[in-house]
Amino acid sequence: MNAGICYSIVIPVYNEEVVIYQTYRRLKQVMDLTGEPYELIFVNDGSCDHTAAMIKNYRDQDEAVKLITFSRNFGHQIAISAGMDYALGAAVVVIDADLQDPPELILDMIAKWKEGFDVVYAKRTKRKGETFFKKLTARLFYRILSASTDLDIPTDTGDFRLLDRRVCEELKRLPEKNRYVRGLVSWVGFRQTAVEYERDERLAGETKYPLKKMIKLSMDGLTSFSYKPIKMATYAGFVIITSGLSYLVALLLFKVFYKSGIAGWNLVLAMQLVLTGILLTMMGILGEYIGRIYDEARDRPLYIVSECYGMMKKERNVKRVV
Ligand code: UDP
Ligand code: MG
Repeated sequence: MNAGICYSIVIPVYNEEVVIYQTYRRLKQVMDLTGEPYELIFVNDGSCDHTAAMIKNYRDQDEAVKLITFSRNFGHQIAISAGMDYALGAAVVVIDADLQDPPELILDMIAKWKEGFDVVYAKRTKRKGETFFKKLTARLFYRILSASTDLDIPTDTGDFRLLDRRVCEELKRLPEKNRYVRGLVSWVGFRQTAVEYERDERLAGETKYPLKKMIKLSMDGLTSFSYKPIKMATYAGFVIITSGLSYLVALLLFKVFYKSGIAGWNLVLAMQLVLTGILLTMMGILGEYIGRIYDEARDRPLYIVSECYGMMKKERNVKRVV
């Protein structure tokens, strides 16, 4: 299967001509230190600058360099997934092209992998050179995501990580289109661990993750791993029904004890609250059903067997053949 290749490095690139040479050079330096065969898979996500031509140049002198070019910009998460589909190595490392993730850390990841871990993710202890807004929204997002799902998705980690071949094979079986790869990696399971690092500034060029792409990524993360957002309607419905009913009871008590009339709008308001509450609750219940349909439609395999003793491992639900 792995054609003698030990490590596959997957590098998504989108208009990275100003950094790509440095990235290539540093990755090569680090990977040569391992003394084992490796491949550098650049996934060109529809760049419209000279990124692809430059990579082809490196390829002329260096067989380890490989290039996949997309027909258009499909997005970072899809580029990573394509790289994994093509990777041949016994371990696959995903790293950004802008040297925000230090390639030297790959050696620590490999050491952990050799200890027997299947996933080694890089956890950021600091993020340098990013705007206050980006840091704040990222921090908030990771906290909200982990609060709204039962799955243990590590906070403050990007896609910089090492995956064992078997994890990579499992990821290839997940057919969903709106992919949030770091969540899927957690979902797959196996033995996972972290190495910590301080995230550097982008070496050059600008972020390829404008606000719009960040919002899309966070919505993919939230909706793929939680249907808490839709459950909020049920919770809100309950609160509103309870307050409407309490309001009605209070009005009734007032009428009984004080024997005086109550302004009509009080009654209208109380009824309004109860009715809105009922509507919201019903919406939430509909949401529960939609959530379940969504679970089915995503068609993830129901479970993943890690090892089998005394029987053959069976594949189930394999839809996408790569
Ligand atoms: N990238 C990509 N397709 C895109 C956007 C980004 O392949 O549509 C790549 C980009 O070239 C880089 C990585 O994904 O290697 C992360 O992007 P970036 O560094 O701009 O994101 P940030 O670090 O600012 O979140
Ligand atoms: Mg970056």
